[in-house]
Amino acid sequence: METTITKAYGTESADAPIKNMDIKRRVLLDNDVEIDILYCGICHSDLHAVHNDWGATTFPIVPGHEIVGKVTKVGDKVSKFKVGDLAAIGCIVDSCGHCSQCNHGEEQFCEEGWTLVFNAPDKHIGGVTYGGFSQQIVCDADYVLKMPEFDDLAAAAPLLCAGITTYSPLKHWKVGPGKKVGIVGIGGLGHMAIKIAKAMGAEVTVFTTSPSKVEDAKRLGADHAVLSKDEEQMKSQSGFHMVLDTVSAKHDVNAYLNVLGVDGSLVLVGLPNQPLEVGAFNVVNGRKSFSGSNIGGISETQEMLEFCKEHNITADIELIKTDQINTAFNRLEKGDVRYRFVIDIKS
Ligand code: NAP
Ligand code: ZN
Repeated sequence: METTITKAYGTESADAPIKNMDIKRRVLLDNDVEIDILYCGICHSDLHAVHNDWGATTFPIVPGHEIVGKVTKVGDKVSKFKVGDLAAIGCIVDSCGHCSQCNHGEEQFCEEGWTLVFNAPDKHIGGVTYGGFSQQIVCDADYVLKMPEFDDLAAAAPLLCAGITTYSPLKHWKVGPGKKVGIVGIGGLGHMAIKIAKAMGAEVTVFTTSPSKVEDAKRLGADHAVLSKDEEQMKSQSGFHMVLDTVSAKHDVNAYLNVLGVDGSLVLVGLPNQPLEVGAFNVVNGRKSFSGSNIGGISETQEMLEFCKEHNITADIELIKTDQINTAFNRLEKGDVRYRFVIDIKS
């Protein structure tokens, strides 16, 4: 298949820094669009993948799955986009399109396996897919989102992963008025979860390990903030309908099962690379559930973008240049970001 070369930012190994590299993109197929990338967020999953935390990384890797840009070319069969439109890509760039999961819009659970925007086998040109830390991308239009005109487009890029990953479980677990919701960890995902859960009408409590984030949690919209290392503060918490856990490293989930009310659910979206232990009594008492959630399907992602536009929700970001990606990764690893790095790809 014919390909073109585009400039990207990736790495050859888990301990080498991110550097400039040339990658191949396929020449447009009939249902493809080509996007000139303007902004790409940096998610902790990019960092996990680059560090090979989950043991599944194929090198070289070009991460990036919070992609916003402008359409520069459309294939002959594309009617959803025209040249010049704003467009966005999240995690999913392909799926079988006909299994029961794809049929009801949950491509992230495709029975034949979906294709992640980076580090997944590339069905068209071989090798693995390369993500949004690059100047340009080609994608099947069915997996490209229509990007509403946010005032700050860079700050809207994190909606493509942090936004949908928190919106989807909050909606699934019917978060809304009268519901008491907990958010664990105030990072990229956690700070979006606060804003979205508040917009859904819930009473929101955040659990943070960082004393400096307690005040900030209220600014982000949380009703209450709890320092999770403080046993007294933890003991006074109870009756939660749902707690959304966004923590990226191993931690004690039993502490959060304990704050749930009867029939409450602790929902994991964070992806630590070690197993988390659940005490039997922590779920048996109160018929509690321990569950998880993975991003969200394409139609739900579009719905989330419209919801965030309507409620004026974007991420709090630090906009960086392409030559600052290594510094950003180092700071993200230490939890030193308020609250999402976004790369200005044209810098
Ligand atoms: P992030 O910005 O680094 O935020 C993670 C937060 O977790 C930190 O800010 C910190 O919050 C807390 N934390 C970190 N280490 C901790 C520890 N050892 N003990 C307790 N708390 C700790 O990361 P992110 O981009 O939001 O991603 C969070 C996780 O979700 C990652 O594992 C990522 O891979 C995963 N993820 C999953 C999906 C999915 O579909 N399931 C999608 C995207 C990302 P405080 O300072 O407030 O304590
Ligand atoms: Zn992500």
